[in-house]
Amino acid sequence: MMDGQAVSRAQVRQSVIELLEGDIAQQTTDAIVNAANSSLLGGGGVDGAIHRAAGPELLAETRALGGCATGDAKISRGYLLPARHVIHAVGPIYRSGDSQVAALLASAYRRSLEVAAANGIETVSFPSISTGAYGYPVEEAAPIALRTAADFLGQNQSIRLLRFVLFNAAILAVYNRALDALVASRYAGLQRPAGSG
Ligand code: ADP
Repeated sequence: MMDGQAVSRAQVRQSVIELLEGDIAQQTTDAIVNAANSSLLGGGGVDGAIHRAAGPELLAETRALGGCATGDAKISRGYLLPARHVIHAVGPIYRSGDSQVAALLASAYRRSLEVAAANGIETVSFPSISTGAYGYPVEEAAPIALRTAADFLGQNQSIRLLRFVLFNAAILAVYNRALDALVASRYAGLQRPAGSG
């Protein structure tokens, strides 16, 4: 289903950042990241889609994880999902003017990537954490997500592919613009792969 879909790519050293429109639960990367809440007991949005596609064994495992702090991430198996692992990340609930929320959002991405690397995961798909029920404006969240991804890939080469799976064309467009700006400024060594956009 992803064939023929517009994908934009950038790279940091040998690692690729990819943006596409789609459903996180259908991704075939080694791991997918869940926009979870701190109970890890399931919810709506991304969380609901992942639990529905994974089947009830996922909830049985996450129930035993004992919750997860905001800005942190925990790993489980993927059960019926195409991905072998789910990394459950807890982003912040947005509050305008609160400088802590940006740090917590960056932390949710960074901790997910640390957990992925610690578990030998080489390819991972992320949703746009906190920009649904948690109310984070996509225009503010996208550059934080992309900068944190690029920073990590500049320091740790074990992740070969970091894919952002955006739920609709409007969200994808915001991420595309944010990536363009970061590539233009060579943020963390970000550049376009040869022969691609
Ligand atoms: P949060 O509670 O962290 O805000 P949500 O799941 O409510 O998480 O929403 C996060 C983002 O994921 C939103 O931009 C939403 O549009 C998007 N989204 C919802 N369902 C899916 C899905 N199945 N795949 C990818 N993205 C999704």
